[in-house]
Amino acid sequence: MLYVRKYGGTSLGDGEKIRAAARRAAELHRQGHRVVLVVSAQGHTTDEMIRKAREINRRGSLREMDAYLSTGEQISAALMAMALGALGQQAVSLTGIQAGIHTDGIHGNAEILTIDPARIRRELESGRIVVVAGFQGVDPEGDVTTLGRGGSDTTAVALAAALAADRCQIFTDVDGVYDRDPRLYPDARRFDRIGYDRMLALVENGAQVLHHRSVTLARDRGIEVEVLSAFSEGGGTIVGRE
Ligand code: ASP
Ligand code: MG
Repeated sequence: MLYVRKYGGTSLGDGEKIRAAARRAAELHRQGHRVVLVVSAQGHTTDEMIRKAREINRRGSLREMDAYLSTGEQISAALMAMALGALGQQAVSLTGIQAGIHTDGIHGNAEILTIDPARIRRELESGRIVVVAGFQGVDPEGDVTTLGRGGSDTTAVALAAALAADRCQIFTDVDGVYDRDPRLYPDARRFDRIGYDRMLALVENGAQVLHHRSVTLARDRGIEVEVLSAFSEGGGTIVGRE
Protein backbone atom coordinates (compact mmCIF):
# COMPACT_ATOMS: atom_id res chain seq x y z
CA MET A 1 0.00 0.00 0.00
CA LEU A 2 1.01 3.62 -0.48
CA TYR A 3 0.85 5.75 2.65
CA VAL A 4 0.94 9.54 2.87
CA ARG A 5 1.68 10.54 6.46
CA LYS A 6 1.83 14.10 7.69
CA TYR A 7 3.49 15.21 10.92
CA GLY A 8 2.64 18.57 12.49
CA GLY A 9 5.03 20.91 14.25
CA THR A 10 4.49 19.67 17.81
CA SER A 11 4.98 16.10 16.61
CA LEU A 12 8.44 17.10 15.34
CA GLY A 13 9.30 19.39 18.25
CA ASP A 14 12.69 17.85 19.05
CA GLY A 15 15.17 15.30 17.75
CA GLU A 16 13.65 12.41 19.68
CA LYS A 17 10.20 13.11 18.21
CA ILE A 18 11.66 13.21 14.70
CA ARG A 19 13.43 9.91 15.37
CA ALA A 20 10.19 8.36 16.68
CA ALA A 21 8.31 9.33 13.51
CA ALA A 22 11.21 8.05 11.40
CA ARG A 23 11.16 4.69 13.22
CA ARG A 24 7.43 4.26 12.54
CA ALA A 25 7.89 5.13 8.86
CA ALA A 26 10.89 2.81 8.45
CA GLU A 27 8.91 -0.01 10.08
CA LEU A 28 6.04 0.55 7.63
CA HIS A 29 8.51 0.46 4.75
CA ARG A 30 10.03 -2.77 6.04
CA GLN A 31 6.55 -4.29 5.98
CA GLY A 32 6.55 -3.68 2.21
CA HIS A 33 4.64 -0.40 2.00
CA ARG A 34 5.61 2.75 0.13
CA VAL A 35 5.75 5.83 2.33
CA VAL A 36 5.56 9.57 1.65
CA LEU A 37 6.02 11.78 4.71
CA VAL A 38 4.84 15.39 4.73
CA VAL A 39 6.35 17.54 7.45
CA SER A 40 5.59 20.89 9.08
CA ALA A 41 8.12 23.26 10.59
CA GLN A 42 9.28 22.14 14.05
CA GLY A 43 7.40 23.35 17.13
CA HIS A 44 6.66 27.10 17.03
CA THR A 45 9.26 27.80 14.34
CA THR A 46 6.82 29.56 11.99
CA ASP A 47 5.53 31.89 14.74
CA GLU A 48 9.08 32.76 15.75
CA MET A 49 10.11 33.37 12.16
CA ILE A 50 7.15 35.72 11.64
CA ARG A 51 8.08 37.65 14.76
CA LYS A 52 11.67 38.00 13.59
CA ALA A 53 10.62 39.19 10.12
CA ARG A 54 8.31 41.82 11.64
CA GLU A 55 11.23 43.22 13.61
CA ILE A 56 12.95 43.86 10.31
CA ASN A 57 9.98 45.05 8.27
CA ARG A 58 6.47 45.30 9.70
CA ARG A 59 5.01 45.04 6.20
CA GLY A 60 7.54 42.90 4.37
CA SER A 61 6.57 41.67 0.93
CA LEU A 62 4.51 38.50 0.87
CA ARG A 63 6.82 37.06 -1.76
CA GLU A 64 9.80 37.36 0.57
CA MET A 65 7.77 36.03 3.51
CA ASP A 66 7.07 32.91 1.45
CA ALA A 67 10.72 32.54 0.48
CA TYR A 68 11.54 32.79 4.19
CA LEU A 69 8.76 30.79 5.90
CA SER A 70 8.99 27.85 3.47
CA THR A 71 12.46 27.09 4.87
CA GLY A 72 10.97 25.97 8.21
CA GLU A 73 9.40 22.95 6.54
CA GLN A 74 12.51 22.36 4.43
CA ILE A 75 14.59 22.04 7.61
CA SER A 76 12.16 19.45 9.01
CA ALA A 77 12.22 17.49 5.76
CA ALA A 78 16.01 17.30 5.60
CA LEU A 79 16.25 16.36 9.29
CA MET A 80 13.63 13.64 8.82
CA ALA A 81 15.52 12.21 5.83
CA MET A 82 18.68 12.20 7.99
CA ALA A 83 16.83 10.44 10.82
CA LEU A 84 15.69 7.77 8.34
CA GLY A 85 19.24 7.46 7.04
CA ALA A 86 20.48 6.87 10.59
CA LEU A 87 18.12 3.87 10.73
CA GLY A 88 19.62 2.48 7.53
CA GLN A 89 16.52 3.49 5.58
CA GLN A 90 17.03 5.12 2.19
CA ALA A 91 15.21 8.44 2.05
CA VAL A 92 15.16 11.72 0.18
CA SER A 93 13.80 15.13 1.19
CA LEU A 94 12.03 17.29 -1.39
CA THR A 95 10.92 20.91 -1.28
CA GLY A 96 7.47 21.74 -2.64
CA ILE A 97 9.03 22.73 -5.97
CA GLN A 98 11.01 19.50 -6.20
CA ALA A 99 7.88 17.55 -5.34
CA GLY A 100 6.08 19.12 -8.34
CA ILE A 101 3.51 21.10 -6.34
CA HIS A 102 2.21 23.91 -8.56
CA THR A 103 0.10 26.69 -7.07
CA ASP A 104 -1.45 29.98 -8.06
CA GLY A 105 0.50 33.15 -7.29
CA ILE A 106 -1.36 34.25 -4.14
CA HIS A 107 1.60 34.59 -1.79
CA GLY A 108 0.79 33.68 1.79
CA ASN A 109 -2.39 31.84 0.88
CA ALA A 110 -1.71 30.01 -2.36
CA GLU A 111 -3.92 27.26 -3.69
CA ILE A 112 -2.55 24.06 -5.18
CA LEU A 113 -3.52 23.88 -8.87
CA THR A 114 -1.74 20.73 -10.06
CA ILE A 115 0.81 18.24 -8.82
CA ASP A 116 3.29 16.52 -11.11
CA PRO A 117 4.14 13.44 -9.06
CA ALA A 118 6.81 12.03 -11.46
CA ARG A 119 9.79 12.74 -9.18
CA ILE A 120 8.06 11.34 -6.09
CA ARG A 121 7.07 8.20 -8.02
CA ARG A 122 10.62 7.68 -9.23
CA GLU A 123 12.03 8.02 -5.72
CA LEU A 124 9.44 5.61 -4.31
CA GLU A 125 10.22 3.09 -7.03
CA SER A 126 13.90 3.18 -6.15
CA GLY A 127 13.01 2.10 -2.60
CA ARG A 128 13.24 5.46 -0.84
CA ILE A 129 10.93 7.01 1.68
CA VAL A 130 10.09 10.45 0.28
CA VAL A 131 9.90 13.34 2.74
CA VAL A 132 8.09 16.38 1.36
CA ALA A 133 8.28 19.83 2.93
CA GLY A 134 4.66 20.77 3.61
CA PHE A 135 2.95 24.17 3.29
CA GLN A 136 4.57 25.20 -0.01
CA GLY A 137 4.64 25.07 -3.75
CA VAL A 138 5.80 27.02 -6.78
CA ASP A 139 3.79 29.61 -8.71
CA PRO A 140 3.71 30.18 -12.48
CA GLU A 141 6.62 32.65 -12.14
CA GLY A 142 8.77 29.99 -10.52
CA ASP A 143 8.56 31.65 -7.09
CA VAL A 144 8.01 29.80 -3.83
CA THR A 145 4.51 30.15 -2.38
CA THR A 146 2.99 29.07 0.94
CA LEU A 147 -0.49 27.67 1.47
CA GLY A 148 -1.64 29.63 4.54
CA ARG A 149 -1.17 28.80 8.23
CA GLY A 150 -1.66 25.09 8.88
CA GLY A 151 -1.31 24.39 5.16
CA SER A 152 0.80 21.23 5.48
CA ASP A 153 -2.43 19.28 6.00
CA THR A 154 -3.48 20.42 2.54
CA THR A 155 -0.13 19.33 1.08
CA ALA A 156 -0.76 15.84 2.49
CA VAL A 157 -4.30 15.53 1.14
CA ALA A 158 -3.31 16.92 -2.28
CA LEU A 159 -0.40 14.47 -2.50
CA ALA A 160 -2.64 11.58 -1.44
CA ALA A 161 -5.00 12.51 -4.29
CA ALA A 162 -2.24 13.01 -6.88
CA LEU A 163 -0.54 9.71 -5.97
CA ALA A 164 -3.82 7.80 -5.53
CA ALA A 165 -2.52 6.82 -2.09
CA ASP A 166 -4.25 4.05 -0.16
CA ARG A 167 -4.03 5.90 3.15
CA CYS A 168 -3.78 9.57 4.11
CA GLN A 169 -2.79 9.95 7.76
CA ILE A 170 -2.37 13.16 9.73
CA PHE A 171 -0.29 12.68 12.88
CA THR A 172 -0.80 15.32 15.52
CA ASP A 173 -0.61 15.97 19.27
CA VAL A 174 -4.19 14.81 19.90
CA ASP A 175 -5.44 11.30 19.14
CA GLY A 176 -8.29 12.29 16.87
CA VAL A 177 -11.10 14.75 16.34
CA TYR A 178 -13.18 15.69 19.40
CA ASP A 179 -16.49 17.48 19.72
CA ARG A 180 -14.67 20.10 21.83
CA ASP A 181 -10.99 20.92 22.47
CA PRO A 182 -9.82 17.95 24.61
CA ARG A 183 -7.01 20.08 26.06
CA LEU A 184 -9.60 22.39 27.61
CA TYR A 185 -12.52 20.02 28.19
CA PRO A 186 -11.59 16.69 29.81
CA ASP A 187 -15.07 15.28 29.01
CA ALA A 188 -14.77 16.01 25.27
CA ARG A 189 -15.85 13.08 23.09
CA ARG A 190 -13.73 11.66 20.29
CA PHE A 191 -15.31 10.76 16.96
CA ASP A 192 -14.35 7.38 15.47
CA ARG A 193 -15.63 8.71 12.20
CA ILE A 194 -16.85 12.13 11.15
CA GLY A 195 -18.36 13.38 7.87
CA TYR A 196 -16.60 16.07 5.84
CA ASP A 197 -19.31 18.67 6.41
CA ARG A 198 -19.46 18.17 10.17
CA MET A 199 -15.65 18.38 10.21
CA LEU A 200 -15.78 21.63 8.24
CA ALA A 201 -18.25 23.03 10.75
CA LEU A 202 -15.83 22.20 13.59
CA VAL A 203 -12.94 23.84 11.73
CA GLU A 204 -15.07 26.94 11.07
CA ASN A 205 -15.78 27.05 14.82
CA GLY A 206 -12.07 27.22 15.53
CA ALA A 207 -10.93 23.57 15.71
CA GLN A 208 -7.31 23.64 14.56
CA VAL A 209 -6.81 19.94 14.09
CA LEU A 210 -7.08 20.23 10.28
CA HIS A 211 -6.55 23.04 7.79
CA HIS A 212 -9.89 24.15 6.30
CA ARG A 213 -8.80 23.68 2.71
CA SER A 214 -7.50 20.18 3.42
CA VAL A 215 -11.03 19.14 4.40
CA THR A 216 -12.74 20.64 1.36
CA LEU A 217 -10.08 19.08 -0.87
CA ALA A 218 -10.51 15.69 0.82
CA ARG A 219 -14.28 15.96 0.34
CA ASP A 220 -14.00 17.03 -3.31
CA ARG A 221 -11.47 14.29 -4.15
CA GLY A 222 -13.08 11.59 -1.98
CA ILE A 223 -9.97 11.13 0.19
CA GLU A 224 -10.46 9.60 3.64
CA VAL A 225 -8.22 11.32 6.17
CA GLU A 226 -7.16 9.55 9.37
CA VAL A 227 -6.28 11.83 12.28
CA LEU A 228 -3.92 9.99 14.64
CA SER A 229 -1.70 10.67 17.63
CA ALA A 230 2.00 10.98 16.93
CA PHE A 231 2.70 9.89 20.50
CA SER A 232 0.56 6.80 21.02
CA GLU A 233 -0.64 3.90 18.91
CA GLY A 234 -4.29 3.20 18.21
CA GLY A 235 -7.36 5.39 18.36
CA GLY A 236 -7.85 8.14 15.86
CA THR A 237 -10.66 9.58 13.78
CA ILE A 238 -11.51 8.94 10.15
CA VAL A 239 -12.75 12.00 8.28
CA GLY A 240 -14.79 10.74 5.36
CA ARG A 241 -18.24 10.45 3.92
CA GLU A 242 -21.01 10.62 6.51
N1 ASP B 1 4.38 25.76 9.57
C1 ASP B 1 3.16 26.29 9.03
C2 ASP B 1 2.33 26.92 10.15
O1 ASP B 1 2.77 26.96 11.28
C3 ASP B 1 2.37 25.28 8.25
C4 ASP B 1 1.87 24.08 9.02
O2 ASP B 1 2.28 23.87 10.16
O3 ASP B 1 1.08 23.31 8.48
O4 ASP B 1 1.27 27.41 9.89
MG1 MG C 1 -2.06 21.90 12.04
